[in-house]
Amino acid sequence: MKVRVIGGGLAGVEAAYQLLIRGIEVDMYEMRPVLNTPIHKTSNLAELVCSNSLKSEDISTAQGLLKKEMSMLNSLVIQAAFNAKVPAGNALAVDREEFSKFIEKKLKSFKNFNLIREEVKEIKPLDIIATGPLSSNAICEAIINLLDIKKLYFYDAVSPIITKDSIDFSKAFYGSRYNKGGDDYINCPLNKDEYYIFCNELISAKKVILKDFEKKEIFSACMPIEEMARKGVDSLRFGPLRPVGFYEQVLEKPWAIVQLRKEDNYDELYNLVGFQTNLTFKEQRRVFGLIPALKNAVFVRYGVMHKNIYINSPGNININLSVKNNPSIFFAGQILGVEGYMESALTGIIAGINMAKHINQLPSIDLSLDTISGALVNYVANYKGDFQPMPAIFDLFITKIKTKDKKARKLEYSKRAIELLSKQIFEQKINDDIVLLK
Ligand SMILES: Cc1cc2nc3c(=O)[nH]c(=O)nc-3n(C[C@H](O)[C@H](O)[C@H](O)COP(=O)(O)OP(=O)(O)OC[C@H]3O[C@@H](n4cnc5c(N)ncnc54)[C@H](O)[C@@H]3O)c2cc1C
Repeated sequence: MKVRVIGGGLAGVEAAYQLLIRGIEVDMYEMRPVLNTPIHKTSNLAELVCSNSLKSEDISTAQGLLKKEMSMLNSLVIQAAFNAKVPAGNALAVDREEFSKFIEKKLKSFKNFNLIREEVKEIKPLDIIATGPLSSNAICEAIINLLDIKKLYFYDAVSPIITKDSIDFSKAFYGSRYNKGGDDYINCPLNKDEYYIFCNELISAKKVILKDFEKKEIFSACMPIEEMARKGVDSLRFGPLRPVGFYEQVLEKPWAIVQLRKEDNYDELYNLVGFQTNLTFKEQRRVFGLIPALKNAVFVRYGVMHKNIYINSPGNININLSVKNNPSIFFAGQILGVEGYMESALTGIIAGINMAKHINQLPSIDLSLDTISGALVNYVANYKGDFQPMPAIFDLFITKIKTKDKKARKLEYSKRAIELLSKQIFEQKINDDIVLLK
């Protein structure tokens, strides 16, 4: 039997890998470069569309735990991330080209993997739909028909990338907050006057008017910087521009600090951390140029605001990520209503494993709701309130730990989850059907 994985993004490549290592043939359909999305820049598999950071590696954070659980389930994305790692303090950041190349090479090394560059317009049994937040219109129509749903989108924003050699280093310095990660960031300080001028210009700058745009639909975890500035004069200083943690590096305490994070292994490109925006390109040059170190910044990519598609999973999707009214079709990735690269990849792993179990007439995996993987799929399948895309957070756990100390509590959550998952991998023989691990 052959599975069609629709979409070669983070979720699609994980789903394909789980099927291939279990000896199942995969036709992966990726529409780029035949049809591009408004955001992807290449035809690479698993392209990271915005930040090159896959967030924390620290095991006492939900993001660190998520990575650990993914590794335990043989994640291809985690393998690729460590292969393409660039320094970024506590975070796992990657060279995006190397990251994608590793994944494509690994998948192509399986003889029963076929990559077809074509837009899929119809859905059929044994499909895994992993078409992501920028799914094509045709597949959206097919999804609407399959699930009988009405709403399929919200809005999101991305931050700009500039060249390193355009930064004025007489007005910037290297360093990470609280020395976590050495010289991985470039920091651009602003004094009090510079900060308030910057904020005023940011608020009044010209924006791209989006058709059908409604403010209430901006996803709060990725709020445009100009919207954040509008919330109050100091909101940026207490948010992404907080000037804390640099006492040893600067003589005079800055009023605010803009951080730039490395984008590539050649150390040529940097992104403006937290600067997701909907300003016009011209205004981005003008307003971000008010940051003293970025006066002559050269932009290789401007921030943009875009549509972000997800389905109303609770009620439509089973906890094994199959469709309630057609259990031989699975969904994976951000389209399910998870938020983030790693969360999308995780659901690809789970959909891939469960599709393999379905084909081999084995029971689906049943993960504890006190693992981050189990908690996330439970959120997707069973959430009862106003369903919004969800990243990995400890709050999703069902059995709360009451330890008072926050750090100790987080570590306990992680340790418990890892123990539970390793027990379940063994008891449910989750990895026992793997025939070829590359
Ligand atoms: C602009 C933007 C910025 C983001 N920034 C971040 C970030 O910085 N950090 C973070 O953690 N998360 C971010 N996210 C959220 C999310 O983690 C990523 O979108 C992630 O790539 C989702 O993975 P996915 O596999 O679900 O979708 P994708 O990675 O988008 O993969 C889906 C693939 O399906 C293809 N496709 C679509 N329709 C069809 C079709 N009909 N036929 C064939 N192929 C099709 C697309 O070309 C694409 O390659 C961002 C999302 C967006 C939209």
